[in-house]
Amino acid sequence: MFRKILIANRGEIACRVIETARRMGIATVAVYSDADRHARHVDLADEAVHIGPAEAKSSYLDMSKILEAAGRTGAQAIHPGYGFLSENAAFCRRCEEEGIVFIGPTVGAIEAMGSKSAAKALMESAGVPLVPGYHGQDQDPAVLKAAADAMGYPVLLKAAAGGGGKGMRQVHADAEFEAALQGAMREAQASFGDQQMLVEKYLLQPRHVEIQVFFDSHGSGVYLFERDCSMQRRHQKVVEEAPAPGVSPELRQRMGEAALKAAAAIDYRGAGTVEFLLDTDGSFYFMEMNTRLQVEHPVTEMITGLDLVEWQLRVSAGESLPCSQEELQLHGHAIEVRVYAESPEQGFLPQTGRLDFLKEPSTGRHVRIDTGVRQGDVVSPHYDPMIAKLICWDESRDKALARLHAALSGYAIAGLPTNLDFLYRLTNTPSFRAAELDTSFIDRELQSLIQSPTEAGSEGLPLAAVALALCERERAAAQAAGSAEPGSPWHLSSGWRLNQPARQHLELQMGGSPHAITTYPLQEGNALRYRVYGGGQEWQAAGRVLSSARNRWQLQLEVDGLRRQADLYRHGDEFTLYLATDVLHFSLLRPDTGGEEEQSDGAVLAPMNGRIVALLAEAGAMLERGAPLLVMEAMKMEHTIRAPADGCLKAYHYAEGELVDGGAILVDFEPATAAA
Ligand code: ADP
Repeated sequence: MFRKILIANRGEIACRVIETARRMGIATVAVYSDADRHARHVDLADEAVHIGPAEAKSSYLDMSKILEAAGRTGAQAIHPGYGFLSENAAFCRRCEEEGIVFIGPTVGAIEAMGSKSAAKALMESAGVPLVPGYHGQDQDPAVLKAAADAMGYPVLLKAAAGGGGKGMRQVHADAEFEAALQGAMREAQASFGDQQMLVEKYLLQPRHVEIQVFFDSHGSGVYLFERDCSMQRRHQKVVEEAPAPGVSPELRQRMGEAALKAAAAIDYRGAGTVEFLLDTDGSFYFMEMNTRLQVEHPVTEMITGLDLVEWQLRVSAGESLPCSQEELQLHGHAIEVRVYAESPEQGFLPQTGRLDFLKEPSTGRHVRIDTGVRQGDVVSPHYDPMIAKLICWDESRDKALARLHAALSGYAIAGLPTNLDFLYRLTNTPSFRAAELDTSFIDRELQSLIQSPTEAGSEGLPLAAVALALCERERAAAQAAGSAEPGSPWHLSSGWRLNQPARQHLELQMGGSPHAITTYPLQEGNALRYRVYGGGQEWQAAGRVLSSARNRWQLQLEVDGLRRQADLYRHGDEFTLYLATDVLHFSLLRPDTGGEEEQSDGAVLAPMNGRIVALLAEAGAMLERGAPLLVMEAMKMEHTIRAPADGCLKAYHYAEGELVDGGAILVDFEPATAAA
């Protein structure tokens, strides 16, 4: 076994690899850029080497610097993690040349699967079923279009060199083809320096089911069952689970064997994933093979009880696979959710910022968190915006889901937008609970996932009001208990005051707008009931505190006869209320919040730091609301910025190719007046 390895990565995966190495008595070397000087992975490793500036291309993607770091520290092997250099054949070759073990497959295997087109051609000859499509070398747009016309719309354009959903476009009709092709090629060129495209039949409600395979260098291979990764936004996974619900042992075996055949066709070694689309009729088609460890490998670890990083290290050191196919057991169910700094409301736009506050749920046998960040760390625009992976396991899917919900409601992050609420709602949707999974699930359910249904139904106001009244009462009671005059009427915790009605006026911010609310407590025997008024409505409410800890209350809330349990968390003036299937946010407004600068109606602001890729309209043009104005690229993704209203595009403030800061005003836009 190796004495020392270098991890050519950052974030959670670097931490993950270090943990296993440490357990196996292997010394670890981290590498870090300027941006990661104080990162968790750097602190965890035995040694750490600075490899350059924040930009990945001059640090984590700079092969020479990484090899130099390995040479300097005497590391015998390099674990590339995922992303960065993990599927880079040139890097793998350079490791080989310098006598350092690349913890992954051979150069040949990476090359074979490096191009989606070449991989499909290879799989076709190995007899693995493929998604119907065109994966030829001739890239004449007319040839690509003819292929699309022939297979019929919708089709999916994919970058042959693609990954991370980049350079991918759905095309629903032939009239859209040309613009989509140009956009996909532009994105592919920017992300991979390669414009080659393939065209696939776009399957309408498939599931993404992938098989984890493992091979040693002595020709033995096994499959470690499947994962369902159908919960995707922008064609990228956010929730993964194992085993895939509804997959029969017979189908599992057929898919497993197809995956082994795919891997054997390229003399595979190490951990790999063969991705399939599983169609509604039970047919499955090869999509691509990832020649590395996947982000979602923990769900496989949880149901098999194995450590896949340990297997990677053993196999790379020349050992045989530790067990045979027959010895592998599948036990229970595991679900992973990826916590991202992103804004689901803005099309899942990646976000950057500081994790001012971070509270993770407690972990143990059933709950695992893989993360590379700590409170106070910054999610920078240079790298992937994933904050953590939360993985829950139990004997059954229902039990694992219950664990997941408890864990998610114990997760609190402040300082930057995250997808935590989205994940909470998503995994609570009745159709998700019923395991009705397919890759368009999120698009279909989007509205109720990004906006609180409780809030939309206006029940959010009385729930928030009663929750606040209860906490306030508790706080007053606690204060009274600690006061020098415990009997003083000023400390009465019922909220009653001498000679005045006990009503409470609240102004709270919810769903982006302020709401004035009045709450009257009505004592009825020992119970406390409330009448709540706000926005021209009235509710009968009640509630009690079931338990409380610092900044956290378990409540029972009742509005107009509907009673439910809720968890309330407080962070400064901000509150989060978790209901069984929804989560609400509100804050108490200070009385003096007036005077905030109003954004002019037509302001079109850059959503984040990035570069202007294309200007899509003419200055002076009259445009309809939603018309595309320009394309920005940020974090290697293209974002189309659209007209905020019907109106006139007076001028662009930036030219193509220019860099802009998040928040910068991009265009001079004059909305048409309502009367016009
Ligand atoms: P990337 O490597 O960029 O992640 P993939 O080829 O793995 O791209 O595809 C990502 C996702 O896009 C898949 O999981 C699936 O949801 C969707 N997808 C890919 N190909 C098709 C297709 N032919 N029909 C329908 N959906 C597809």
